[in-house]
Amino acid sequence: MQITPMPIPGHIDPVPVPREVTPRADGRVDLIGLSRKQIIAVFEDAGLDAKAAKLRAKQVFHWLYHRGVTDFEAMTDIAKTMRPWLAERFVIGRPDVVEAQVSSDGTRKWLLRTADNHDFEMVFIPDATRGTLCVSSQVGCTLNCRFCHTGTMRLVRNLTPGEIVGQVMLARDVLGEWPRGSMASPDTDQGLDFDDADDDETSDYTPDGRLLTNIVMMGMGEPLYNFDHVRDALKVVMDGDGLALSKRRITLSTSGVVPMMARAGEEIGVNLAVSLHAVTKDVRDEIVPINRKYGIEELLQACADYPGASNARRITFEYVMLKDKNDRDSDAHELVRLIKQYGLPAKVNLIPFNPWPGAPYECSTPDRIRKFAEIVFNAGISAPVRTPRGRDIDAACGQLKTAAERKSRAELDRLLEEKQAALG
Ligand code: SAH
Ligand code: SF4
Repeated sequence: MQITPMPIPGHIDPVPVPREVTPRADGRVDLIGLSRKQIIAVFEDAGLDAKAAKLRAKQVFHWLYHRGVTDFEAMTDIAKTMRPWLAERFVIGRPDVVEAQVSSDGTRKWLLRTADNHDFEMVFIPDATRGTLCVSSQVGCTLNCRFCHTGTMRLVRNLTPGEIVGQVMLARDVLGEWPRGSMASPDTDQGLDFDDADDDETSDYTPDGRLLTNIVMMGMGEPLYNFDHVRDALKVVMDGDGLALSKRRITLSTSGVVPMMARAGEEIGVNLAVSLHAVTKDVRDEIVPINRKYGIEELLQACADYPGASNARRITFEYVMLKDKNDRDSDAHELVRLIKQYGLPAKVNLIPFNPWPGAPYECSTPDRIRKFAEIVFNAGISAPVRTPRGRDIDAACGQLKTAAERKSRAELDRLLEEKQAALG
């Protein structure tokens, strides 16, 4: 029953093998991550007729994703007799929390665990105007970028849509972000067998607080190597009857999986971020090895062709500042030249390298970063330097997981039990 984790099969462009979702031991189906259509299908499989399945799916979808309930008993517009029927067949899942940390700057980081015992991470970064959730798409990553800790992890598997949407659901749980009070879902029980739904209070509804305003697919993994699951998950996250996050508030970051970029624009339509990190073939080949397969010119052409990019919706180029590697004045000038050559509506995020034990690079000096930013900015391209967040909790990609791996298995199991107890 257990999914065998996939070892890293190659170095430059290993393609992850699609894998089956491990069925739950109790045979119940987790509804989280399913679209309305898929919920209709599983309800029909469970024996509801087409009309009932459609209505129930609409109601359940609303309770799951708009209200965030985790118990069928809370679905007050669904008949009391129907709720146990649902609970026998379905669950409303969340990833397990292995570890949760809060930084002195408000950044939160979670180490999460899949049902088949793989650990992955999620980070929440609040600032004055927004709250950004950094979501993982895979356990580990096959791409081996040399400055990235996630790339050093040996075990990789794609996260399912449920595990991806589950991160957003869990963050909303923890942030207390679900609407409170009672509000009936759009349809009630007219004309169906179950007519004894609660019709209690409807006046104490308050909308959620909107702490979580943005999502970036910048946690562990390469989202375009898990395209179908990431697309399906983000479609659920964007659905107006559910979590309803606008595509303008979601950013997908890729290291440059060129053949999937057009599809990402067409089928998902979110903002694009590209981990460029270098402007010469030699350096990018070294630090972002997928460059040996899809080079800088191809990548920038795919950016120029990205559907939906415009001055109002610019492509973000991520550029990690590595001392004496990619941080010279000439690199900054070349970056500007390339962006102009391809006519890209672009902004550049300069990311101070977040060091990890044994990393082969150092972060550029603050002066160097400032000078680099100045050159790009003076050429008319926005070039903010990202302030490192959550340093006291190692809140960079892949770092919490490794810290946790230094703990013994027994210690982790104890932590998990404590967390589960705390969550009730
Ligand atoms: N795989 C995707 C998305 C996840 S990585 C990608 O590579 O774009 C999210 C971002 O964090 C990428 O830009 C990545 O290059 C950057 N990153 C990874 N490790 C880092 C580190 N140690 N310091 C600074 N940025 C890092
Ligand atoms: Fe994977 Fe992105 Fe890290 Fe590269 S930077 S190893 S693509 S997670």
